[in-house]
Amino acid sequence: MTLAVRYTSARTLDTAPASHSAPGPGEVELAPAFVGICGTDLHIFHGDMDARVATPAVLGHEMSGRVVRVGPDVEGWQAGDAVTVMPLRWDDTCPACRSGHQHVCQHLDFIGIDSPGAMQQRWTVPASTLVRLPDSLPLDRAALVEPTAVAVHDVGRAGVAAGENVVVVGGGPVGILIALVARAAGADVRVVELNPHRRSLAEELGMATWNPADEDVPALVGQWTGDAGADVAFEVSGAAGGVDTAVEVLGVRGRLCLVAIHPRPREVNLHRFFWRELTLVGARLYDRSDFEKAVALVADGTIPADRLISKVVPLTQAPAAFEALEGGGDVMKILVDCTDDTQGATV
Ligand SMILES: [Zn+2]
Repeated sequence: MTLAVRYTSARTLDTAPASHSAPGPGEVELAPAFVGICGTDLHIFHGDMDARVATPAVLGHEMSGRVVRVGPDVEGWQAGDAVTVMPLRWDDTCPACRSGHQHVCQHLDFIGIDSPGAMQQRWTVPASTLVRLPDSLPLDRAALVEPTAVAVHDVGRAGVAAGENVVVVGGGPVGILIALVARAAGADVRVVELNPHRRSLAEELGMATWNPADEDVPALVGQWTGDAGADVAFEVSGAAGGVDTAVEVLGVRGRLCLVAIHPRPREVNLHRFFWRELTLVGARLYDRSDFEKAVALVADGTIPADRLISKVVPLTQAPAAFEALEGGGDVMKILVDCTDDTQGATV
């Protein structure tokens, strides 16, 4: 018997035994090693997504682990392979899929929200979701591949080019990853963030930061760019003030890339869009090429994953970790360690 972390009702997680049958055709059974706790997991924990999530729900979609068993008709994978999972299942028949945008399928199954996730000691997924990890990449760092794939997708959607001036509004895990990926693409990057711990981490990683609470960010961007304004702004804060900042800092023909999930419609200065001929680009999830690039960026150290991991907790302490994250605090990424010798997991 193995253990799973389950969401049962608002602000309540438990750990419970889970049984597993052999993987079916096209499926692979994994032993998750490390699973990151994401903002979406916290929204579920809050009870904000009860209309979508069937309880009890096993959370988790930022993971690394190893193949344990492969089902019939699975080729190319064997026990012991190090993998991460691109947690998307699409129908391949809707208009979005037919136009080649399966990651935003109109009937998307996001594994870890709409179906059982990775925060357990055995996890069966379609073989089509597997992404190979190099043996040289430690599995704790590899748990950062999924959020890095988000950042790769965002930077691609914004069309960031070498030499461009980029402002990232919101310096949480995804914002920092966007800043790192944009910098790797040759951009000059600034991070706007209220939280002093997050600002200091960004600065340790070589990024200049601004605090919007006591600095006039649009004026500073003007000084930085010779009055031109930024080429690209990423809205990663999810706050109304963040939207205002992202619009204000852009120069003529600037691109605003919307990454954060805004829970309600926002007022936007559309006159600014008209006056400066701005473009707004939405960016959601990732595709396989984003995932493969993310593996390379984490493996070669472009993404200093070890610096972004604040803490690793054993699976049995995951409920307490969620409660701690709810209270905010000076943390970036917390990983749940699903390996447990007493359970016989082979990782
Ligand atoms: Zn579809």
